Amino acid sequence: MTSRIEQRCIDKGMKMTEQRRVIARVLSEAADHPDVEEVYRRATGIDPKISIATVYRTVRLFEEANILERHDFGDGRARYEESPDEHHDHLIDMQSGKVIEFHSDEIEALQREIARRHGFRLIGHRLELYGVPLGADEPGKG
Ligand SMILES: [Zn+2]
Repeated sequence: MTSRIEQRCIDKGMKMTEQRRVIARVLSEAADHPDVEEVYRRATGIDPKISIATVYRTVRLFEEANILERHDFGDGRARYEESPDEHHDHLIDMQSGKVIEFHSDEIEALQREIARRHGFRLIGHRLELYGVPLGADEPGKG
């Protein structure tokens, strides 16, 4: 079966080796935002011969083709996800590392308005919110 990311690669005319197909499948099936080490761990579960260098190269290649989005969630590790059809932003739970995806029409509109006030048409943005669960940072609670 052809994974979504593999299909996007084919559509862009990229040459797909067996190892690239495995990495494409791992990334297509990821419901989270794995870093390269995690992609490597999952990929070698399918094909133990894949090297971490191959994973780095392939992820970079997919990113340059705009098939993957790279994120930095504040821990210094690059995280990847398939470029979504619908834009979303991220809220990072600093206790568990869990990443919550959200979309806010108000934030989108406000950003466009701020850009406009400065004489710009907005073509993109990055937004990460960092938080702890309510109650977690209050002494004597939780
Ligand atoms: Zn996401």
